[in-house]
Amino acid sequence: MTTAHHYPNRMGRIILLSMEEVMGRTGVNAVLRLASLSSLIENYPPDDTVLSFPFLTVSSLGETLEQIYGPHGGRGLALRIGRACFNYGVRQYGTQLGLTEMAFRLLPLPLKLNAGAKAFAELFNNFTDQRVRVEEDDTQLFWHIDRCPLCWQRHAHEPVCHLAVRLLQEALYWLSGGKVFNVEEKTCIAAGDQTCTIAIDKSPFL
Ligand SMILES: [Zn+2]
Repeated sequence: MTTAHHYPNRMGRIILLSMEEVMGRTGVNAVLRLASLSSLIENYPPDDTVLSFPFLTVSSLGETLEQIYGPHGGRGLALRIGRACFNYGVRQYGTQLGLTEMAFRLLPLPLKLNAGAKAFAELFNNFTDQRVRVEEDDTQLFWHIDRCPLCWQRHAHEPVCHLAVRLLQEALYWLSGGKVFNVEEKTCIAAGDQTCTIAIDKSPFL
């Protein structure tokens, strides 16, 4: 057994609250029961920075969504949960990351995307056991997750880290003041790749 990796309680709590927003409490309880995580029912982690929400719990939640609703339905729910996670997350972390400061908000869009992605990556690298690197070429940003909670110990034929895809898309929508960017997971550790890599077009739709 390798060393266990964790998210802070606060992020675990955000995931569960986001699931509740999308599926209702009954839905969340059903997922928790099926995932053998009944101890979390009506007992979400506290809103603190302690690293004790296991990656395995994060990935089990996603896998169980797919078991209950099928791959397509589970993906749709994971995307909606990712959107809710961003909205909870930006309230918790936006100020800490400096993303709400006027100097940042006034940056031209390409710089803002780059700076925003790097600040966001640092949040994961500094306060969680998730590891992220950001690269870019002329047209795309690449969000490489080297250690990924969403697909932790999962095996799949296709990328499964849908929550991260939508979380990033929502972050870009917010950063850009309402523009929609194409965001796609290209490789996934669960599918045998080295990294979970999410490619982001630097130009918005239209
Ligand atoms: Zn992954």
